[in-house]
Amino acid sequence: MSEISSPLPPVDAVVIGAGFAGLYQLYRLREQGLKVRVFDTASGVGGTWYWNCYPGARTDSPSHVYQYWFSDELLAKWDWKERFPAQAETERYLNHVADKFDLRRDITLSTRVTSAVWKPADARWTVSTEASDGKHETVSTQFLITCTGPVSAPVVPPFPGHESFKGQIVHTARWPKGGIDLRGKRVGVIGTGATGIQVIQTIAPEVAELTVFQRTPNYAIPMRNPKYGDADRAAMRAGYPETRKRVWDTFVGFDVDADPRAYADVTPEERRATLERLWADGSLNFWLSGFRESFFDQAINDELSDFVRDKIRVRIHDPKIAAKLLPSDHGFGTKRVPLENGYFEVYNRSNVRLIDLHEEPITTITRTGVRTSAGDYPLDVLILATGFDASTGTLTRIDIRGRDGLSLKEHWGCDIRTAMGLQVHGFPNLFTTSAPFAPAAAFCNAPTCLQQQVDWISDCIRYVRAQPGAKTVEATREFEAKWIAHHDEIANLTLISKTKSWYTGANVEGKQHRVLGYLGVGNYRAACEDVKAKAYEGFEIA
Ligand code: NAP
Repeated sequence: MSEISSPLPPVDAVVIGAGFAGLYQLYRLREQGLKVRVFDTASGVGGTWYWNCYPGARTDSPSHVYQYWFSDELLAKWDWKERFPAQAETERYLNHVADKFDLRRDITLSTRVTSAVWKPADARWTVSTEASDGKHETVSTQFLITCTGPVSAPVVPPFPGHESFKGQIVHTARWPKGGIDLRGKRVGVIGTGATGIQVIQTIAPEVAELTVFQRTPNYAIPMRNPKYGDADRAAMRAGYPETRKRVWDTFVGFDVDADPRAYADVTPEERRATLERLWADGSLNFWLSGFRESFFDQAINDELSDFVRDKIRVRIHDPKIAAKLLPSDHGFGTKRVPLENGYFEVYNRSNVRLIDLHEEPITTITRTGVRTSAGDYPLDVLILATGFDASTGTLTRIDIRGRDGLSLKEHWGCDIRTAMGLQVHGFPNLFTTSAPFAPAAAFCNAPTCLQQQVDWISDCIRYVRAQPGAKTVEATREFEAKWIAHHDEIANLTLISKTKSWYTGANVEGKQHRVLGYLGVGNYRAACEDVKAKAYEGFEIA
C-alpha cells in the first residue's frame, strides 16, 4: 500500500459526501460550469441512506417533503411507494437522481478525505484522500464544501472488553450491506433512540432472545404508514406546487407549522381534541404542529408529556416494565421524537427482556456477552444503536486546517463557532452544510434545509467568481459572533437547551454542550436571503 500521494488535476470545487446535499451541490455547481470532484467513503451514493441499512430503517419524514424540488420531471416521474419510505427506497431514489442527472462521472467513491489544508499563497485548498485500496491522492481546489450530513459520525462507547467479544458487534450506521442473519440468535441492543426503536421493533419477532439495554426511555409516536397507489400519488403531485413553496417558511422545513392559537385561548376540551387529532395522524405532526408553547413553557410541556405517557402506558402489560419505559427526566419533544410501529408491544413478548441501565450499569463486554452490575447476558450479536457525534463529528474527524494552520478540530474543541452554519472565520472558501447554528444541524427536515444551504452556497460562489480579481470569501469574526449570539438567544429560551441529547452535544464525552441547530427554518432562510441581498454582508470577499 502506497503512502505517497499522487496529485489529481486541479478543480474549482471539492465536495465531501455524496448524499442528499452532496449530489445536489454537484448538480448546482456544474450548472455554473465549474469543475467539481465529489469524494465519499462509501462504495455507493446515498450518504445516510447508504450507511444506515439496519433492519427497520426508514424515514420519519413523509415522502412528499423528503425529496428534491429542483426538477419538475423528477417530481413527476418518481413514484413514492409509501408515506414513510424504507431505507432501500430512499437509497434507490438517490441512486436514480445520480443516474438521471449523470452525476457519477464526477464522484469518487470508496475514498475518504483525510485532510484539507488552506494554502494562502495560492488561495486554494489542498485536499488529501485515501481510497479503500490504500491509494493516496491530493487535489487542489478553490472551494471546499462539506456535505457530510448532520448524523453521520457514529459514536461507539468505550465499553471495556469490547475487543474480547467472540460474537459480532455492529454499530447500526455500519450495518453490512449483505445484512446479518439474526434468526434464532441471542441479540442485544444498546440504545433506544430513533434508531434503536426501529431495530428493536423489527427484529424482536425473528430472534431467539432479545435483550434491550436501555439508559434513557424515549417518547415515541405510533406511525401511520399507508402504501401509496396511483390515486394517492396523483393527489400528492397536485399538491407539490404548494408544498414546494411552503417547506422553506415553516418552523422545521415540513409543510405544516405549529397551531396558531395560544394555548391559553383554547379550552381544555379543545386542547384534548387537538392532541387526539394530531396523535391519530401518526406522524411527527403531533410534535411539530401542536401548541408552540410546549417548546418553551414547562407547565404546558408537562401536560403534553402526561398525555403521551398515558398513551404509552396502556400498551404494556406489566406495570413494572411500563414504569421503566416511561420517560421522566425530560419533557416530550425536547429531544428528537421517533415514530414507532409496535415498539412498546415488543416488551409484552416472552423472548424480550428490558435491562434498565440506571439500575444495573454495563460494567464490561465479556467474551460471551454483556456484563452489568447485576450479572451476565450471553449474546451472539451485540447491536450498538448508540448514536452519532452530530453536526461537528464528521468535520473534526478530518484534519481541516485554515489560515495560520488553524485546525478546525482544535478550534471547535474550545468553542464551536460558525457564521450561519455556512462558514467558519479563519477558513476561507470553506462552506459547510449541516454544521452548527443552522437548522440543518439538527432541527429540520434534512432535505429542505440541505437544499436551501446548497442553493445559498452556489449563489455565493457564483457571486464571488463574478467579482473582478476576487478569489476568496470568508465570514468576518464580527458577523460570526453576532450570529452565534442571535442563535443562543433563541436556543436558550427553549426546553431543548435543558435536555441532554445529541441536539445539545451532551451525548459525546468532552463536547461543548450547547444547542447545535438553529431553531426556525423560515427565519433562517430569511436571514440568509438578507445577507445575499446585501452583497454578502458579513462575508469578506477578497
Ligand atoms: P440517539 O438518539 O443519540 O440515541 C442513542 C441511544 O444510545 C440513546 O438511547 C442513548 O442513551 C444510548 N447510548 C449512547 N451511549 C450509551 C452508553 N454508553 N450506554 C448506554 N446507552 C447509550 O441516536 P439514534 O437513535 O441513532 O438517532 C440519532 C438521530 O438520527 C435521530 O435523532 C434522528 O434524527 C436520526 N434518525 C432518524 C431516523 C428516521 O428518520 N427514521 C431513524 C434513525 C435515526 P441516552 O439517551 O441515555 O444517552
